[in-house]
Amino acid sequence: MLNLILFGPPGAGKGTQSEKIIAKYKLIHLSTGDLLRNEIQAGSELGLKAKTLMDQGILVPDEVVIGMIDNKLKEHKDAAGFIFDGFPRTVKQSEALDQLLASYDESISVMIALVVDDNELLARLLNRGKTSGRPDDQNESLISKRIQEYNSKTKPVADYYQAQGKFVAIDGIGEIDFIFEEINQAISKVTV
Ligand code: ADP
Repeated sequence: MLNLILFGPPGAGKGTQSEKIIAKYKLIHLSTGDLLRNEIQAGSELGLKAKTLMDQGILVPDEVVIGMIDNKLKEHKDAAGFIFDGFPRTVKQSEALDQLLASYDESISVMIALVVDDNELLARLLNRGKTSGRPDDQNESLISKRIQEYNSKTKPVADYYQAQGKFVAIDGIGEIDFIFEEINQAISKVTV
């Protein structure tokens, strides 16, 4: 299996690049943000609880997202691989993911990080908010809160995979196709 983590702050372009990666490598896309928004739309108890936190730009509890990922891995045992988008977001989630994959004799192939500075992120998310309809894209203080959550809780996840020799950083500012080409090169190094 090819198991990729696409890593980066909110607004780094993970969704855009995920679509291109999935089309090319036929991976199953696991976005915890999308899974949570599906739960909200379905009006489930989990969705109701998650919404309160998401609307404040705060991470939902680790157990919630780990459980969702566990279910999806079980559902797609025969997949060519997975692309994890917006997960893991804490070191605890990373440890849980490694354990889950190990139980299938699998592991993370590579973490690809999209690097974008905070000013550019803010501008992109405010712009996305005009059309995304996402409550968490609507105002500057909420976006700052998400970037703050990323800097304090999520950034250490990069060190976790760096220590395993699996971390690759790519400049997330520039042409979408150029960035995708850089991603392809990083993937080709782990698939030969
Ligand atoms: P973005 O990266 O653009 O902020 P996402 O769609 O990945 O957006 O996530 C939106 C919100 O969902 C986050 O701000 C957080 O509240 C919640 N969320 C998504 N994934 C996770 C996760 N792995 N752990 C905890 N909370 C999460």
